[in-house]
Amino acid sequence: MTTFEYRLPQERRVVTDFPGPRSTALAERRTAVVGAGVASTLPVYVADADGGVVVDVDGNSLIDLGAGIAVTTVGASNPAVVAAVQDQVAHFTHTCFMIAPYEGYIEVAEKLAELTPGDHAKRSVLFNSGAEAVENAVKIARHATGRDAVVVFDHAYHGRTNLTMALTAKSMPYKHGFGPFAPEVYRAPMSYPFREGLNADGSPITGEQAAARAISIIEKQVGASNVAAILIEPIQGEGGFIVPAEGFLPALAEWSTANGVVFIADEVQSGFTRTGDWFASEHEGVVPDLITMAKGIAGGMPLAAVTGRADLIDAVHPGGLGGTYGGNPVACAAALASIDQMKTLDLNARAREIERTVTSRLNALAGEVDIIGEIRGRGAMLAIEMVKGDGREPNPDATKAVAALALAAGVIVLTCGTYGNVIRLLPPLVISDELLDEALDILQESIRTVAMEN
Ligand SMILES: *Cc1c(COP(=O)(O)O)cnc(C)c1O
Repeated sequence: MTTFEYRLPQERRVVTDFPGPRSTALAERRTAVVGAGVASTLPVYVADADGGVVVDVDGNSLIDLGAGIAVTTVGASNPAVVAAVQDQVAHFTHTCFMIAPYEGYIEVAEKLAELTPGDHAKRSVLFNSGAEAVENAVKIARHATGRDAVVVFDHAYHGRTNLTMALTAKSMPYKHGFGPFAPEVYRAPMSYPFREGLNADGSPITGEQAAARAISIIEKQVGASNVAAILIEPIQGEGGFIVPAEGFLPALAEWSTANGVVFIADEVQSGFTRTGDWFASEHEGVVPDLITMAKGIAGGMPLAAVTGRADLIDAVHPGGLGGTYGGNPVACAAALASIDQMKTLDLNARAREIERTVTSRLNALAGEVDIIGEIRGRGAMLAIEMVKGDGREPNPDATKAVAALALAAGVIVLTCGTYGNVIRLLPPLVISDELLDEALDILQESIRTVAMEN
């Protein structure tokens, strides 16, 4: 990464117990007026954030290994994004692209056509959230194919709206009590190498075998000619940073093409330099028919997109897609500045560098403690799956304990996973080496401490 100008001191600074007095006062006000269904991971309230740090209202400066769930890839107040937003907001904040269109939307669509895999004719439509992008990708696939069924996978996460709850695998907390869910959603088995059985001869199940298993279920239980789309995260996010075995995604994409099924890659979490490529699909040369994007796209401003084959997206009648705020001009300006920063700072290279630093340290630690089941992921989307007993049994208690210890020492780490036993690392890619190293020291100490108690 070329040099990056930070506004705030890039330091870890713990000046109170967590939460400090001001955060405690805000928590009391919050309880009185904010719905209990919205939970927060951290007990502290934010005053400022920049580069690799989040500063709370009591003056604590925390090292950020979460990036607001893979959103602030270019930093939470990247100067280029701030300038682009300020400039746009001083001109117009909104006209509604469906009423009075503007250039920023077109420019974002041009960038998405350039950056997404494949050199076929592409179109894009912009939205506000990842869930909205996923819903619209499904609408497009159904409209273009005239078919109803959508195939999703175990451990999938696609959002919290009615359709995307149906697409999401995990009941608690995402779906519990919120049904009935949308019909014509079918779940196929994922390739999850760490939790996969073995072949009779003791060899691991390959990606191709896992794909054949999923395809057989789709063909028998749904019928290929009823399937509008296969929807999959190339690296699963909330489900546990599950990286399917090599060969799994290409085999599913090939089967989709052969059967007139739209292959949709949900790259809401894995996209925009997070994994060391613009999109995680690129790693195995997969060219999705449609890609859904959000999170890292606009430096923290709410923006989402569906990009893909022109023939599919243009199959929808005029007026069939859209929304009041979709492709808001301020969010578009932020996206253009963020994408420019990703190129200028070469954040794909930075993500790969972060992968090397983090995995070499964590792999050494995994040899030392037995609560680490697996280190996995790609680029700056990395995870530690925590276990106990026979080395496969999920250990959510240790996972929570490690995250709590790290936070007490001033490092933000997030957890995830169907079994709640995965620590996920999603630092802003502009984090400095010094800060990343310090955060890893603390994470390592936290894991050692929890390992000794287990
Ligand atoms: C976060 C996420 C979504 C939902 O995005 P929202 O902006 O929260 O609606 C969908 N798919 C994946 C893979 C995600 O990680």
